[in-house]
Amino acid sequence: MEEIDPQKIRIIQRRILSWFDKHERDLPWRRTRDPYKILIAEVMLQQTQVDRVLPKYQEFLRAFPSVRALANAPVADVIRSWSGLGYNRRAVLLHRCSQTIVKTHGGTFSSSVSALEQLPGIGPYTARAIATFSFGEDVAVLDTNHRRIIHRLFLGLELPKALASDKKLLSLAEMLLPKGKGYSWNQALMDFGALMCTSRSPKCAICPVQQFCRAYPEIQAASPLKIVLLRRGKRGKEKFEDSDRFYRGRILDILRSEEHLPRAELLRHIRHIRPLGKIRFSRILKQLKKDGLIRMNKKADTIQLP
Ligand code: SF4
Repeated sequence: MEEIDPQKIRIIQRRILSWFDKHERDLPWRRTRDPYKILIAEVMLQQTQVDRVLPKYQEFLRAFPSVRALANAPVADVIRSWSGLGYNRRAVLLHRCSQTIVKTHGGTFSSSVSALEQLPGIGPYTARAIATFSFGEDVAVLDTNHRRIIHRLFLGLELPKALASDKKLLSLAEMLLPKGKGYSWNQALMDFGALMCTSRSPKCAICPVQQFCRAYPEIQAASPLKIVLLRRGKRGKEKFEDSDRFYRGRILDILRSEEHLPRAELLRHIRHIRPLGKIRFSRILKQLKKDGLIRMNKKADTIQLP
């Protein structure tokens, strides 16, 4: 990868930070440095849009105001509170993570990325996000916004295929991070990606770093096909209603309001929503059990939250 001019880096940093000064979004997880609250926000935001996370974040913190409260709660309550956020496995992993923090670390969070990565359910992104957003560490984070901006600035359009691995993008992100400003820089890129360099309609005409952007000339000269690809994003072809994820969500929705249900009745409820074969139903149940999201009582042939 070619050497990047340090002067160019400094101008990009200055312009994005000054854009951020004027356009920063007011988000509740930015009004705290409490690592527990940052953890909750980051896990929720991983696969769910900000608008959907906002009310759930406050609600979740009212139900589980501290890492100890979460660790001591029954996992079924945590799964119930996760309703509406999707990817429910995150609730189980968060619960396990809180128990490890309480049992093994006396309820306190480390500021070290490698120590945070040892916690259940905490991947490299979340570990780095806690280190920077809670402890102000100068570490680069690589969420979808950061990844897209860095790719476009230094490598060009990320479609139809990314031109670099995450490892390379992370090293570019480290190089771009202004020393001593890890917190605001990482937040700035989040907002820049959400409001300016968006995945489908980047506002290149008013972008403050347009002159340094490798993707800009490509976007200008893009064929109609490339623009269609950009607008369409990377959405999968499978309809959500046909996916296992859809059925997993519906099964949990039903179990959230029931103590326990006979297996056959649960299947009947699901079939009121959408057809589902017995073999696929059993496979989905097995997967939910493996993920710690349900308990199956073999003797009574009933299903319930764990
Ligand atoms: Fe993104 Fe366009 Fe700005 Fe490049 S010029 S960083 S693609 S908004």
